[in-house]
Amino acid sequence: MTATSAPDVLCIGQPRLTSGLDRMPRVGADAFGSVFGKLTRRGLPELIAMAQQVDLRGRGGAAFPVARKLAAVVRSASARGKRPVVLVNAAEGEPGSAKDLMLLLRTPYLVLGGAVVVANALRASEVVVAVTDEVMASSVRAALRRAPELRRLIQVVTVPRRFVTGEGGALVNAVNGRAALPPGRKVRASDSGVGGQPTLLSNAETFAQLAVLAMLGAAGYASVGIPGEPGTLLLTVGGSSDRPAVVEVPSGLPLGYALDLCGSSACDGVLVGGYHGRWLPAETAYDVPVSRAGLEAAGGTLGAGVVLPLGPGTCPIGEVARVAAYLAGESSGQCGPCKLGLPGVARSLAAVASGSGGLEALDAARRTAAAVRGRGACGHPDGVFRFVQSALTVFTDDIAAHLFRGGCGRPVRGVLPVPAANGDQRLALDWTRCQGHGLCAHVVPELIQLDEQGYPVPLAMPVPPWLERDARRAVEMCPALALRLASAAPVADERGQPARGLPASGRGQLSLRAGGRQRDGDLMVTEEWIADLTDASGRLRAIRD
Ligand code: SF4
Repeated sequence: MTATSAPDVLCIGQPRLTSGLDRMPRVGADAFGSVFGKLTRRGLPELIAMAQQVDLRGRGGAAFPVARKLAAVVRSASARGKRPVVLVNAAEGEPGSAKDLMLLLRTPYLVLGGAVVVANALRASEVVVAVTDEVMASSVRAALRRAPELRRLIQVVTVPRRFVTGEGGALVNAVNGRAALPPGRKVRASDSGVGGQPTLLSNAETFAQLAVLAMLGAAGYASVGIPGEPGTLLLTVGGSSDRPAVVEVPSGLPLGYALDLCGSSACDGVLVGGYHGRWLPAETAYDVPVSRAGLEAAGGTLGAGVVLPLGPGTCPIGEVARVAAYLAGESSGQCGPCKLGLPGVARSLAAVASGSGGLEALDAARRTAAAVRGRGACGHPDGVFRFVQSALTVFTDDIAAHLFRGGCGRPVRGVLPVPAANGDQRLALDWTRCQGHGLCAHVVPELIQLDEQGYPVPLAMPVPPWLERDARRAVEMCPALALRLASAAPVADERGQPARGLPASGRGQLSLRAGGRQRDGDLMVTEEWIADLTDASGRLRAIRD
């Protein structure tokens, strides 16, 4: 599966959202009636009652009750005398998720139909479908061209693809033409969303579920799945799977059925709930029921239904370090714990993965991850904490191998998806030139640390916007011209190391140091010169500003 190809679809049990996709690549306008039947209009009280009866929750990760959201929009709209807007969140910033992409590419009328059912019930002025991908936008536009009655009501907006774009406040900002960042304070879309109007904002799958609910009624909807959380769920099963796919399952089904169907080997563990989710040990993962309650009871989380098993051929801690670096780069940079803490977590994990950090790096990763929890302006640091903390709990054998034997002997294959760099810049080192005096690590300590031999180790993450200035300054100040900003996309290191520029071990750096020579034109940098520039704590005094 790639970001822009139509994901494969599998189903266990009676298909609902994926109906018809076993025999046609796309359920178009002509086929919709024969596959799904007639889309039924529902009045607002009836729609709210039905959503309440089946306890329908949002499918974007937060699992907010849909009935309460509908009621909140109605209250806000009548208090302010404004017509509401319906906003379909198909931003899908989570790299492991493809269910919204699948829905909009392969069965778009189900999502659009659900949005129209809600819009009619709310008497909404318009429906906005927010996507991050031009292929998704084209698919929706093609669907609208075939349905003039929908075209009058629905518009498609393309927003930037970032991990945090799917967060409600960030999405509203993006649709309103502002930066796609969380607002940093609680602003309910139901109070002020698109254009400042009361907005019913929910995930694309939620609207598809609402279409099914409107067609089947509450009793019909609840005829599959477990009583507390009836219906079906869409899982995106990827990772080490032989057949990655979006899988529709009845709630309560043991996760092992979906893993087996996708040819997934999960010997090291399974990440459930995506990069803000949690790792489960393989022995737990196979039997855990796929439901919010079932996954939470086992220490996991459903989130947006992302399931990423890790097979035997890749280094778990290297994979985790790689994702942690990506998540650090995806911070909005709005608060210190996120801006500084997440790169710190990523650096420590990279040091554990490379075998060079020892127990100190492991302890630093634990402490830094715990320190960012509950202190962010949005949920990103908390999500990263869950991801990292559960990895450090589940991958104990692998971590022990890295701590005490320098590694597990497996390469980092990049089984966990990380979007390719798209114009992003990273700090890259030319080891043949670096003289290891450490000036760069003083200029931009958030992105470069020194190893025990004093050589710089750049963090394998794109330079976030708020560090661009310092990163450029570090490049300009490197007297050996060893540091540069490169736009190369991330690649897995076949030697088993998680990050470009991350040396395999301290020994390699020692030999580089021994072989380092002063080049013509290089500025001679002495320890005295560095000391002169730094204060007692080792931070640069005047250079940073
Ligand atoms: S400033 Fe340049 S030469 Fe000095 S440690 Fe950093 S990269 Fe190496």
